[in-house]
Amino acid sequence: MPEGHVVHRQARALTRAFKNERVRVTSPQGRFAAGAKVLDGKTFAKAEARGKHLFIGFDNRRWIHIHLGLYGKWQFGKGTEPDDNGLIRLRITSETNFAQLRGPSVCEVITDDEMATAITRIGPDPIHKGADPVRAWDRVHRSAAPIGALLMDQKIFAGVGNIYRAEVLFRHQISPFTHGRVISNEQFDAIWSDLVFLMTLGVKNGRIDTVRAVHLPEAMGREPRVDRHGGEVYVYRREGMKCFVCGAKIKMADMQGRKLYWCAKCQVG
Ligand SMILES: [Zn+2]
Repeated sequence: MPEGHVVHRQARALTRAFKNERVRVTSPQGRFAAGAKVLDGKTFAKAEARGKHLFIGFDNRRWIHIHLGLYGKWQFGKGTEPDDNGLIRLRITSETNFAQLRGPSVCEVITDDEMATAITRIGPDPIHKGADPVRAWDRVHRSAAPIGALLMDQKIFAGVGNIYRAEVLFRHQISPFTHGRVISNEQFDAIWSDLVFLMTLGVKNGRIDTVRAVHLPEAMGREPRVDRHGGEVYVYRREGMKCFVCGAKIKMADMQGRKLYWCAKCQVG
């Protein structure tokens, strides 16, 4: 499942392709046929992301609410005649562009009011300019759960996934096992503002970069990272390799079914 910056990029790509255009909305696979009929021929207004949820708005006060889940995938292209019809839940086409979606876990038409309600159920999203970090702090400082788990809770930190979770804790030398209620206000503020910085950078670059200038390959005289996620990171998928800061071996453990990476020497508090 992509992290939030990817969903924000998808919202931008959709808005760029279709803003103020009358569009065709179809469901070649058929599972979204009734929803598509409500929107076919309407004008595309804008697409917005909140965490890992995507909302596509139309001029009839209806939205498509999408969550990719584990298998959802967008494809964008030029021209109105995409060649592949297999298993496409949703297709949007204009005279010059198309976008099509396969395998989402959620793809439904909702009203303005339902969209507003849906947003209140999603936690504050560091990428969204109007996000209220106090909502996250209220949950974190009252929780006995480890901060490593709280960062993955979409009702607390919307859009944060496994990579941002591991990297932001490393950057602030916080052990992922620290209980939420032990996290200080200063530590929380540092985590939040760094997530805003890192995830906004992720939207801009289309990949996750978390390594400070002094630890980049050229600064350290080391080989760049080779990984399909791209970008330079401190701990994610680096178990058994040397920490760029202290030289200790990066550790990996299971936390609530997801792999957690950290440096036990740097991340003590
Ligand atoms: Zn270290």
